[in-house]
Amino acid sequence: GRGDSLDLHNKHPDERWPRQNSLSMKEWDIPYDELKLFEVIGTGRFGTVFRGSWHGAVAVKVLHVLSDDCVPLDTFKHEVATFRKTRHENLVLFMGACMKPPRLAIVTSLCKGMTLYTHIHLRKDKFTANKSVIVAQQISQGMGYLHARGIIHKDLKTKNIFLENGKVVITDFGLFSVTKLCFGNKLVQSVRGDSLGIPAGWLCYLAPELCRALTPHASLHLPFSKATDVYAFGTVWYELLCGEYPFKSQPPEAVIWQVGKGVKQSLANMQASRDIKDILMLCWSYRSAERPDFPHLLSTLQKLPRKRLARSPSHPVHLSRSADS
Ligand code: ATP
Repeated sequence: GRGDSLDLHNKHPDERWPRQNSLSMKEWDIPYDELKLFEVIGTGRFGTVFRGSWHGAVAVKVLHVLSDDCVPLDTFKHEVATFRKTRHENLVLFMGACMKPPRLAIVTSLCKGMTLYTHIHLRKDKFTANKSVIVAQQISQGMGYLHARGIIHKDLKTKNIFLENGKVVITDFGLFSVTKLCFGNKLVQSVRGDSLGIPAGWLCYLAPELCRALTPHASLHLPFSKATDVYAFGTVWYELLCGEYPFKSQPPEAVIWQVGKGVKQSLANMQASRDIKDILMLCWSYRSAERPDFPHLLSTLQKLPRKRLARSPSHPVHLSRSADS
């Protein structure tokens, strides 16, 4: 067979996987042959996503693997082990992974609907303040759950957030380091070198401490943390409210330089209440320790006064809150 029996013989002595872990890892191992791949949905920096079928409709992200020695299999397995622990309304459903090199793939449920990126930047859909708050609350809920489980997203952005009939579904969490091991070099070079190599709208999610780590000879280990996820959430919040990226149309070098020394996108032209801008400024705090955590963000968002349509301006907004939900 495929070696379904417990494979304890070729384990390395400094085995990272305790026995019951190996057992349960098997449950998530999907043989590549069992997957049906249909059309390509899109290609990202690290992999190609296919619409596929495995006991129903799925999305299959096949990782670009350049050569065998570049396959950080342990890291990949570790990230898969992390992934499988996630069960939350606002997180994409992890179904399994192909873990036999050179075929490394992640199988998740297929997201219907469009990403926030498509809504905001391609379709130019306008999100009202109320709608933005509802979306931000769901993101905070999903992210709060991930952080409570000790998982850092590392790549939170509107391209990785789907909206399915008003429900937020976050994708692509935790997979950054495995792909970075293979492609980190290219990534950093592209940031420092040819501007064209920089994925559009990636830099504006990077906290100051990450921007500062993007030096040509720095180690590839970027200092991701819960606080860098919160910074990225701030950028998502800005996109929802303003319909564009912060530091729009500025060259990457300028963004890296400014953010690295603590410059923030100006909110002077932004039409929003103080409370709403305060959330942005807190998430974008230069010092990571000053950024709020997701439970705190959630309760702040829940306390925001909701504007009601068709209510006379003389009627105080806060009095209408209880009738709102
Ligand atoms: P990056 O590599 O920088 O993260 P990206 O987010 O565009 O860029 P991928 O995450 O590889 O790249 O996704 C490629 C495409 O597949 C995107 O259009 C994405 O919206 C889509 N996609 C990813 N996961 C799913 C899913 N579970 N269901 C439906 N579509 C998905």
